[in-house]
Amino acid sequence: MAVVKSVDVLTEQFRAKGLKVTPQRQSIFRALSSSRVHPTAESVYAAVSSEMPTISLRTVYQTLNDLAAMGELSTLDVGTGSTRFDPNLEPHHHLVCDECGSIEDLHADFPGVAVPTGGEAGGFEVTGTEIVFRGCCASCVAGRPSQQHNTGGARAHG
Ligand SMILES: [Zn+2]
Ligand SMILES: [Zn+2]
Repeated sequence: MAVVKSVDVLTEQFRAKGLKVTPQRQSIFRALSSSRVHPTAESVYAAVSSEMPTISLRTVYQTLNDLAAMGELSTLDVGTGSTRFDPNLEPHHHLVCDECGSIEDLHADFPGVAVPTGGEAGGFEVTGTEIVFRGCCASCVAGRPSQQHNTGGARAHG
């Protein structure tokens, strides 16, 4: 159940902020709102430049950063080597594939996850919890020649 804003809503919000709504930006909105893979700026650029060959990577970066600054998408760095953009604004967790670097959303509650009071976490005020599960995605598991399945471990992130 992703809360991803439509192209129309985003376009309206850009106008409201006095930002120009160019066909390039609309194309970037489309690429993002139809994406569930947490794309990098480079992969948004690749998707957009096929329908809009004159767009520059710089414009894509700028637009993504504008959207992030407006709070319309979040940025995610889970150690895959580059910043990923996430249009799903609802609190959620992530499944990260160590083999192909794919990131999938996971909507689940983990009521038992809490920072122990006192000790090294003393005085720390928790505002949110994001859990990153590392392992191997279904399609990488399916593509494996061997029978060995490694489910990987989980660690808290953020
Ligand atoms: Zn994978
Ligand atoms: Zn996500």
